Amino acid sequence: MSKQRILVCPICGETQPESSLCTACGVSLVKDKLLIAEGGIGPWWVRDEELPHNPGMTYDHLADMARRGKVERHTLLRGPTTRQLWTVARRVAGIAHLLERCHECGTHVNPKDRACPECNVSFLAYRDRNNLGLEESEPSQGEIDGMSSFLNDTMILNTTSKPLSMPERKTSEPSEPHEDGVGSPQFRAVQRRLESTLRAKRNLTIALVIIALIAAGLGFMAFT
Ligand SMILES: [Zn+2]
Ligand SMILES: [Zn+2]
Repeated sequence: MSKQRILVCPICGETQPESSLCTACGVSLVKDKLLIAEGGIGPWWVRDEELPHNPGMTYDHLADMARRGKVERHTLLRGPTTRQLWTVARRVAGIAHLLERCHECGTHVNPKDRACPECNVSFLAYRDRNNLGLEESEPSQGEIDGMSSFLNDTMILNTTSKPLSMPERKTSEPSEPHEDGVGSPQFRAVQRRLESTLRAKRNLTIALVIIALIAAGLGFMAFT
């Protein structure tokens, strides 16, 4: 039996044997279809016990769900107009009027109204896909304790664990001192070979000189 490939659904995160359709969220895992699914990701969430790991959706997708009755007045939503805090749909600006309620005063309104006939608040669409609606100013209470909000500085700066070290040498002469300090074992082997060649050459030269001197001496003696 061939080895089964395992994949993680990029939309819901379910781990499963490789297939073209996610067994958990039903999204098509074919590349082109996946791009469409990715295009539907946005900053709005509907609280869903069945699919708790899915990314958020676009405003248009959520508005469509509201129009089709998939989102009701008591459904829990979060998005840019709730500062990402869970809120009942009838209080969510941008969605409540589609459910026939003014998010501000609760008056019965027509989904096609552009503003509340009672309190005059505007009914807008929030289509910025990348805007979570979080406050850009510093939070008024609390601050990050040091470099990380998950670890304190002592833990980050604690370097008593095994420090990084050079991999152990596998040569048979680990204690041999080497003058240049940069040679790898291979490099040093080549260097040694070169040195012995030079030494041999030098010895040969000396031998030749001695032979020449002896020959000259013998020649001199024979001449006299
Ligand atoms: Zn999935
Ligand atoms: Zn109102």
